[in-house]
Amino acid sequence: MSFKHNDTIVALSTPPGIGAIGVIRLSGPKALEISNQVFKGNDLTNAASHTLHHGWVRDGEAIIDEVVAGIFVSPKSYTGEHVVELSCHGSPYVQQRIIEVLLKHGARLAEAGEFTLRGFLNGKMDLSQAEAVADLIASTHGTAHELALQQMRGGFSRVIATLREQLLKFAALVNLELDFSEEDVEFADKEALYKLVRELLDEVEKLRASFVVGNVLKNGVATVIAGRPNAGKSTLLNALLNEERAIVSDLAGTTRDTIEEVLNIRGILFRLIDTAGIRDANDAIERLGVERTMEKIRTSALVVYVFDVLEISTEEVAVDLKRLHTEGSTLICVGNKVDGWEGDRSLYPEETVFISAKDKQHLKVLEDVLYKSVTGGATAMDQTIVSNARHLDALNKTAAALIDVLEGLDNNISGELLALDIRNALEYLGEITGEVTNEDLLDFIFSKFCIGK
Ligand code: GDP
Repeated sequence: MSFKHNDTIVALSTPPGIGAIGVIRLSGPKALEISNQVFKGNDLTNAASHTLHHGWVRDGEAIIDEVVAGIFVSPKSYTGEHVVELSCHGSPYVQQRIIEVLLKHGARLAEAGEFTLRGFLNGKMDLSQAEAVADLIASTHGTAHELALQQMRGGFSRVIATLREQLLKFAALVNLELDFSEEDVEFADKEALYKLVRELLDEVEKLRASFVVGNVLKNGVATVIAGRPNAGKSTLLNALLNEERAIVSDLAGTTRDTIEEVLNIRGILFRLIDTAGIRDANDAIERLGVERTMEKIRTSALVVYVFDVLEISTEEVAVDLKRLHTEGSTLICVGNKVDGWEGDRSLYPEETVFISAKDKQHLKVLEDVLYKSVTGGATAMDQTIVSNARHLDALNKTAAALIDVLEGLDNNISGELLALDIRNALEYLGEITGEVTNEDLLDFIFSKFCIGK
């Protein structure tokens, strides 16, 4: 990854392959000049920002394509530099030829994420916003999209900035005390400082806790449907899938070989683990002794237990539920085949959802229960949600540093040491938004982008 940005980069920003149009993007001090050299039409070097120009791209005298050039004059562009976007016809050959001729006139091929990197380096967005751009491009469903959008628009950055500001004020007080330490003056009121750090820690804890939800919203919920043979698991699965099958091309973080189906309930993805196994072997409980099945149940966040109200006694249900119960996962009890059944519902566990998979009765109730088991019922977007593992890591380190500060205050450690712990916390928070950064970190983040973004 190149961190010098005094040259002009070029890349195809639309997907490679045949399309109606392709967009080739240039960014850098010579973007206007280089594109003007290959452009037959208006003088692009004199064009006003945010204007479109029809013309032709040529290689010497040979015409390559008819194009529209979009002009963004620095600093009013995605990267903060001069940017030209050439919309050409979507033939891979044409696109290649245009890029070649731009390279010939002094542009360089952009690396993955380099446009966004430049935007970050030029202060167009902070690091968490840049990361949200990648998340937005990768989003395959409603909530992932909403999360990315919120982060991209700076919601999360503002929360972090507020925390940092408060901490900075605190640091200033401690430093003031250090400056005057010889005069034996205490500026910082210990009680007030303690309270402030405690509050900051609470905020950080809230953000850390939100990661569980954030991760689920972004990557989906690992879900197992379990039950005895003929309980109606496959029927239920098909009924749910008919209504809410998710459109998923490629889910980040999922091992595709074990995941057969994905349900999308109001924007939350339920990744049904090993549904092939459920369909074939028909019985997760029968195989409970089989370690592999138990392991799946253990590692899934959600287990949907289905039983046949006509066949299974309340005692048997209790036994099954006990065997399926695992720490850290939610167990949902579903009584199936209530069509024409007049039994006593009050004999079953209180939270049992009664449905008829065959007649698609009460499926909406079940979906509601599934949705609420993940979001806790609240609209997930009401709070700031952390969905990025790197941010969680920085928050973990921030919390540890803040705890050090509190302990330091408790033990009356010297102002110097206190200042050091505060500085650590500030640095970790700064890593999230990129106030504090290094080339390795940037490389790690931006190399995951696609070329042309
Ligand atoms: P699995 O072994 O748990 O996957 O069960 P299946 O989905 O294969 O269903 C077993 C049998 O129960 C099939 O004959 C289904 O038609 C029937 N069945 C499933 N759901 C219902 C239901 O809601 N009501 C009734 N009456 N029959 C059902």
